[in-house]
Amino acid sequence: LGPTLCIGEILAEIVATTTGNGFLEPVPMIGPYPSGAPAIFIDQAGRIGGAAAMVGAVGDDDFGRVNIARLKRDGVDVSGIHTDPTLPTGTAFVRYRPDGARDFVFNMWTSAAGALAWTDAVDAVCTRAGHLHVMGTLLGHQTIWEMTERAATMIKARGGTISLDPNLRKELRGDPQTGSRFAQMVGMADLLLPSGDELYLAADLPPEAGEEAALARLFDLGVKEVAIKRGADGATCALPDGSRIHGAAFAVTELDPTGAGDCFGGAYVACRRLGMPVQQALTYANAAGARNVTFRGPMEGAGTRTELNDFISNTKRLA
Ligand code: ADP
Repeated sequence: LGPTLCIGEILAEIVATTTGNGFLEPVPMIGPYPSGAPAIFIDQAGRIGGAAAMVGAVGDDDFGRVNIARLKRDGVDVSGIHTDPTLPTGTAFVRYRPDGARDFVFNMWTSAAGALAWTDAVDAVCTRAGHLHVMGTLLGHQTIWEMTERAATMIKARGGTISLDPNLRKELRGDPQTGSRFAQMVGMADLLLPSGDELYLAADLPPEAGEEAALARLFDLGVKEVAIKRGADGATCALPDGSRIHGAAFAVTELDPTGAGDCFGGAYVACRRLGMPVQQALTYANAAGARNVTFRGPMEGAGTRTELNDFISNTKRLA
């Protein structure tokens, strides 16, 4: 029923090669790496196979060209990516602290990514798409919200499906407008991909209510599948018929945790849309998340099905 679509920011990431606190002194850095959570998601989906498409914007510069070339290479339809003649590609400068926390300098909303607009090319992609993946992080941005709502409505109207990563940022959590947008997307979503406390956020219940109560609430709202990401504890898929299917994580040494959740999501959605059973989709998704953290750079470890099969054969599973 048409490609899996993701709308949102495309960034170039430059990452410090040493850990420490921020950027107040010169530090050696490497990059540019293609990045942006929606781009990471769709790149992994494209690598799995099945159609994938991206709506976003880059500048007419090498950071933009690096991103477009990567997505194209990995099978993503880039016709919905606008090259803005006046603004640069968005950037993220990242430095890890010794404890794994990260310091960022972002140039997102004042870059091409922030000037995204509904164009004929966007309309054409949304008309073809069979699935929309929505990122909670983007619900606070007015234009992206309007585009997301429009695309979601179009795709639903033609029988397509929606997945939601309910990764609402902490600073957006008390905001009533973001809250109502979030509730609207939970109500439209077929598949949810929560991690941490996001299951409860989506169900609008306190964590004390417990996982089953939260799942029951979500299924009442029309959600048909919930894939709960549990980091090094793998992931569990819950279905309205009561089945709870667990996939163990893979034992890896984490080099760069950025992008694990997005690679998990991209692989899971692509596998399910290809008709794979839940258990197989969980295996690929856990492998995609784990493989990605073994590479420096946010999407450098996204894997093709062949690469993921090799990874699965050669990597021990936890528990
Ligand atoms: P998010 O980034 O959305 O919080 P997680 O951290 O749960 O998501 O990571 C998503 C998936 O990636 C996990 O379910 C797991 O399969 C895999 N993963 C992430 N970190 C690790 C790790 N350190 N070891 C093994 N697998 C991991």
